Amino acid sequence: MTELEQFITAHEANLRAGVMFGLLALFFLLERALPRRAQKITPSHAIGNLLIGLLNGVIVRLIVPGGLAALALFNTGGGLLGHLSGLVALPDWAIFLASIILLDFVLYWHHRAFHEIPLLWRLHGAHHSDRNLNVTSGLRFHPGEALVSIAIKAAAVWLIGAPAVAVIFFEILLNGASLFNHANWRLGRVDDWLQKLIVTPDMHRLHHSRAPQESRTNYGFFLSIWDRLFASYQKTPSQAHQNIELGLHEVENDNAVAALWHPFKR
Ligand SMILES: [Zn+2]
Ligand SMILES: [Zn+2]
Repeated sequence: MTELEQFITAHEANLRAGVMFGLLALFFLLERALPRRAQKITPSHAIGNLLIGLLNGVIVRLIVPGGLAALALFNTGGGLLGHLSGLVALPDWAIFLASIILLDFVLYWHHRAFHEIPLLWRLHGAHHSDRNLNVTSGLRFHPGEALVSIAIKAAAVWLIGAPAVAVIFFEILLNGASLFNHANWRLGRVDDWLQKLIVTPDMHRLHHSRAPQESRTNYGFFLSIWDRLFASYQKTPSQAHQNIELGLHEVENDNAVAALWHPFKR
């Protein structure tokens, strides 16, 4: 392991927290400078979403103290890429890139499963119950979803044989992409160009539409290719972005307590 890799793995938690708070502040400012939709988001609603994010961070750390990177270190030389590099001399950058792409592929199906399996949808509905999207919505996932998610990601890291540095980079990327995709800011034409490669705020907003045929599209978190490949991509909403009705028909109250209670409602 190089010195840089040692530094990254030793400071994983601080790196992740630093990037997350930096991006939160950045998108918070961009939402004010370039708002995409006129929305009324109360401070208590935003703080509620932030507290849910914090709660998830604490729960996951208690259950997996070393994070997924510790698992990846323990699994060095194992998994698909570990075995492959035992057979063929693969450069480190190729293993790193393959790890990111494969983990993102798993995350696409992970998200799709949360929509298509009723029990998982009960958990994921807490995320979709937000009636206005802003950067804090990117942290609003039910703790039950966070737990299932960490188990799926752990299995993926193990089977893929992703190196620890790639796992840390992917987790930072995933958090950053979630904040970026939920932020209520206007990218104009850049959004269209970016959508050819990655998931953008306009692309993900459509996924939060109340219309079922729209919320069953655009499952990707980072790369947009998976939606194109598996026929779930929709570029243009049936109405202007300003008028898309967000949230769930059956949910009136979208505060943090209601979100935590969401899976247990009849
Ligand atoms: Zn979803
Ligand atoms: Zn979302």
